[in-house]
Amino acid sequence: MKRRLTLHFPREAVHQPITYRLAVDFDIAAKILRAQIAPNQSGTMVVELSGDIDELAAAEAWLESQGLGLNRAPGQIAIDRGRCVDCGLCSSVCPSGALALRQPAWQLHFDAQRCLVCEQCIPSCPLDAIALVLAPP
Ligand code: SF4
Ligand code: SF4
Repeated sequence: MKRRLTLHFPREAVHQPITYRLAVDFDIAAKILRAQIAPNQSGTMVVELSGDIDELAAAEAWLESQGLGLNRAPGQIAIDRGRCVDCGLCSSVCPSGALALRQPAWQLHFDAQRCLVCEQCIPSCPLDAIALVLAPP
């Protein structure tokens, strides 16, 4: 199964080979969707983890034991249909196919089930029609 997480790295954990340890110790494939980590500073990373459900649970526990903060439900993407002009720019950057122009009208279709909440589409929209709606704390 797959699970999407936002990892918050404290400064002391930035240099850890997280994806390597996940692969070797837990047989978990980690696909990095977004990362903002500067050397010797704290940072965040959105990852999609793939693996056995028990190993995923063990891997999450291990990540937390290493001092990382885990956000399992960062929020969801919302499209403002009133602003959207169906230009398709967002669909060209979407890695999961959650955003696509559909025939015959070539209108933007958003499939929330496929969305990884990687947020790559947000800056791609020239009309600010895409937003991340944060989950309640
Ligand atoms: S956040 Fe945007 S770019 Fe990322 S998967 Fe969801 S719809 Fe696609
Ligand atoms: S980039 Fe913005 S305006 Fe263009 S299709 Fe996507 S949401 Fe609509």
